[in-house]
Parts: sequence; structure tokens; C-alpha cells
Amino acid sequence: MSFRRFTFVVSLASLMFSAVAQAGPVTWPGKAKAAVSLSYDDALNSQLDNAAPALRKYDIKVSFYPTLSSPIVAARMAEWRKLAADGHELGNHTLFHSCAKSKPGRDWVAAHNDLDKKTMAQMREELTTANAFLHAIDGKTERTLTPPCLDWELADGDYVKTLGILFVGIKGAEKIPAENTAMLLPDGHTGKQLIDFVKKSAQKGGLAQIIFHGIGGDHLSVSKEAHEELLKFLAENREVYWTDTYINIAKHLNENRKEGAR
Ligand SMILES: [Zn+2]
Repeated sequence: MSFRRFTFVVSLASLMFSAVAQAGPVTWPGKAKAAVSLSYDDALNSQLDNAAPALRKYDIKVSFYPTLSSPIVAARMAEWRKLAADGHELGNHTLFHSCAKSKPGRDWVAAHNDLDKKTMAQMREELTTANAFLHAIDGKTERTLTPPCLDWELADGDYVKTLGILFVGIKGAEKIPAENTAMLLPDGHTGKQLIDFVKKSAQKGGLAQIIFHGIGGDHLSVSKEAHEELLKFLAENREVYWTDTYINIAKHLNENRKEGAR
């Protein structure tokens, strides 16, 4: 390679780097090649029965996003509180889990929970009430949000854009380059498929997000064995994969962005 050509490549690379640095993070704490966020949505019995003991066994910290109107939140309050005391995150997944009924396959969305018909004023009240509810459970004042169904278009606007200020971070709306983040909603995946997904993210230096629902039961489930295989892999490779609560990862991303903009 000639000197001139080399100079061109370097300057192009540094240009690209500064663009990425301003748009978002490319580095993770320590020697980690990727960040991994495991989350468990909707407040399901199988999460308390099967996921929680496995997470304790491998000492992996994750995020739970319970739908707060679920009877399972009220019925098993002490166990949700214990999860928070053990270092897991309880994040906002709204009170009522409204999704856009107009999208394909959404017959299950109740008419009174149709996000297409909700307004910004209603959503603001729902999200702040959910934050207060979570504060009553774990005493924390900072939250992240996973918008149910990853929908955020209301009758009168985009609630992630307008109400994002209420949160440290929002799943699916990270301000980092698209190639630096990947999301998986497993349904019957094997342990190997889950591990391959995080390995692929590490090759790209990115953020791997797995949004679980049922673990060995309930809907969109993976088996207890597949889930445990992933936890074991992450526990044995902590140096490479920084697995943490989404709020800790979101704070790191925010910090990185500030540094990139400096
Ligand atoms: Zn959900």
C-alpha cells in the first residue's frame, strides 16, 4: 500500500470513528467485546419459578419488565421485591400493556387497550403511575422502559419521543448505530441458538438484547434447559460478555454519548 493510499484509509477510518463516537458507543467496560441485556417481560409465573433460581445460581443480573396490572404482580409481590433486592432491575412495561391493534396478528389486543386510540395525556399518566408503582416496590427513582410490543405510535403522536425524558433508557430506541445493536425475541430457541446470537453481537462489538417471556412455561417460551445453557455460557465468559441490567447498560451508553460529543 502506498503512503498516500494509507493516509486516505486512516483519515477515512478516523472520520468514521468520530461519526460513530458522536452517534453512540463502541466501547464496553473492561475487556468486554459486547454488552448483553437479558430481559423478562409481562410478569409471568415461570419467570419467578424457573428464571429467578437459575439467575441466582449463575449470578447474572437482568431486567424484569412486569405488566403492573397483571394479577401475578399483586399475588407474588414479595418475590418481585426480592428480585430487586438481589440486584435485578424492575423496569417500566406500563400498567396495561397497550399495543397497536391495527398491526397484523393483533386480534388479542382488547379494544380498551388499543394503543392506536390512546392519547399522549393518557400515556403520560400511565407511565408516571407505573414509575410510582415500581418505586413502591423497590424504592428506586430511575427507570428504563420497554414499550409493550415495541409500539409507540399513539392517536396523537410518538410517545417515546415525547415522554422519553421520563426514562434513563428505552429498549428498541437506543441512540446507537443500528449495526451495534441486535434484538432477539426467542420462541422455542435452543441454548445453542441463544449463544450463537450473543456470539454474533460480540463479533460486531455490539449490544445483544434478548427479550424473554416464558421460561419453561407460559407464552413465547424457551425451555429451562436452553435458558440455563445461555446463563452458564455468559457466566463462564464474563470477560468477553458484559451481562448486566439494562439500566446499567443504558447509563453506560449515555455516558459514552456525552464523551463522544465532547
Ligand atoms: Zn410485553
